[in-house]
Amino acid sequence: MQTDTYRHKGMRRALVKLLRDKNIRDERVLAAIDAVPRHFFFEKAFVEQAYQDKAFPIGEGQTISQPYTVAFQTELLDVKPTDKVLEIGTGSGYQCAVLLQLTPYVYTIEYNRALYDKARLFFKKYGLHPHTFHGDGSEGLPQHAPYHKIIVTAGAPGVPKSLMRQLHVGGALVIPVGDEKSQKMVRITRVEENEFTKEEFSSFKFVPLLGKSGWDTGM
Ligand code: SAM
Repeated sequence: MQTDTYRHKGMRRALVKLLRDKNIRDERVLAAIDAVPRHFFFEKAFVEQAYQDKAFPIGEGQTISQPYTVAFQTELLDVKPTDKVLEIGTGSGYQCAVLLQLTPYVYTIEYNRALYDKARLFFKKYGLHPHTFHGDGSEGLPQHAPYHKIIVTAGAPGVPKSLMRQLHVGGALVIPVGDEKSQKMVRITRVEENEFTKEEFSSFKFVPLLGKSGWDTGM
């Protein structure tokens, strides 16, 4: 079990300032980032890296997303305290821990078995209580739908229709869409039962979303 010292808190405050300087404006999101000790998700030797605004390898060829990316996606999601949120791509569990600062109702699904097992142990160890699932989340988690918000933390070739159908009316899906080199952040809002709006934001670089509605089924 790692500890959260004044030094860590100081590094986190500096990271939050950097995110503010990069135009993250939602105070709830900044407070959530300030509240989650990101170094808990790293080996002890990499504490410095934990508070840099960079993605970092978490094993299995995957990464913990860059803090700016986590803040940007979370800001777009606009999570309310009673929202039920689905995260696709648990990875290290960091984004999930940030979401749990905003609502207790978080469902998270991870395709990679080793990362899923590791994240589950992590959540238990630190007293976090998301609903965790192992499997292909590229078509969502229909058995627990609908969701107020869905966040995809891997790059998709397109917006899976099944995810749109799992949104509440008024709900939103935030998903990076593009080719393997670069993806545009997209927000889909379900404004009526059969009416959706689409907004496009800046470009990011994610690891690929695998599975049926992702890039391949090779797992
Ligand atoms: N949210 C994570 C975090 O905070 O550490 C970062 C996730 S990493 C950028 C993307 C994750 O998506 C990887 O762990 C990968 O295994 C997972 N993934 C890829 N395709 C998936 C799929 N079809 N269903 C569920 N998870 C998937």
